[in-house]
Amino acid sequence: MTFPWREAPEAEFAVIGHPVNHTKSPRMHSAAYYALGLPYRYVAIDVPVGEVDVALEHLRSVGYRGVNVTVPHKEDALAWSVDVEPLAARVRAANTIRLADRACINTDAPGFLDTLEGFDLGPKRALLLGAGGSARALAVALSGTGYELTLYNRTFDKAIQLAKELDLSEESVLRSADPQGASLILNTTSASLNGAQLPILWERAEPGALAYDLMYAKEPTPFLACASEHGLQTMDGLKMLVAQGARSFEWWLGTAAPREAMLEAIR
Ligand code: NDP
Repeated sequence: MTFPWREAPEAEFAVIGHPVNHTKSPRMHSAAYYALGLPYRYVAIDVPVGEVDVALEHLRSVGYRGVNVTVPHKEDALAWSVDVEPLAARVRAANTIRLADRACINTDAPGFLDTLEGFDLGPKRALLLGAGGSARALAVALSGTGYELTLYNRTFDKAIQLAKELDLSEESVLRSADPQGASLILNTTSASLNGAQLPILWERAEPGALAYDLMYAKEPTPFLACASEHGLQTMDGLKMLVAQGARSFEWWLGTAAPREAMLEAIR
């Protein structure tokens, strides 16, 4: 169930987006409150483009404590905040807001790194597919941990622009999606949303590489299906959703999030 922001029900936490009807966040956070016996409510609230400021002010005035922010509002949420964590400023996106003091953080980037723990991927080289907001966040996260990056995007100029912002050389931007040498092939595009295939040169992929799609669906996405056919390890975006949500929960409430219960609730 989704509420227009003017009709936001009594609750403490919410996710805002547009559209926001497919979000799993309310189920995931509600499961966390239930597991820990916390009396909080978490709802999905639709905020049209251009109304993020007024919607956040409204939610604050009716007693909401915290808000997660999803597509396409992460930059507007950052702009509304007065206390901005350096990482959120660097990736130019806030996905977690504390309303009382207008503070924000980005939990997508560290949440993503959490999900790589336990994988022995070998050389730290990643091919990043896409050049949108998530690509920027994950590129910052990966280069911060010593990864060498190559970028590929359908619109070449956007990849060039992203490389400039990240201080990467122009040579790191590829004309074709060539995964040779990469231990991590990371799909941050929304191609899988429409069932579209990306033109990846799968036959050049390293045998032990991990193909990671930020998207998740009941069935493997076209990207992950192709990667499996080529014998690669695969991971979808569900664990990242839990990791970023758990980090938001912990920042708001100062207590460890029940990650297993959160994952179970949305699997
Ligand atoms: P943006 O809109 O900022 O970027 C979208 C990117 O996808 C662009 O690079 C765009 O290319 C590319 N793209 C879109 N359609 C196609 C296509 N058919 N073929 C090839 N490329 C395509 O989105 P975000 O970066 O914010 O998010 C990307 C995805 O990641 C979303 O689907 C989102 O749901 C998911 N996500 C998952 C998270 C999780 O927790 N699992 C967290 C954050 C995001 P171009 O520049 O050419 O338009």
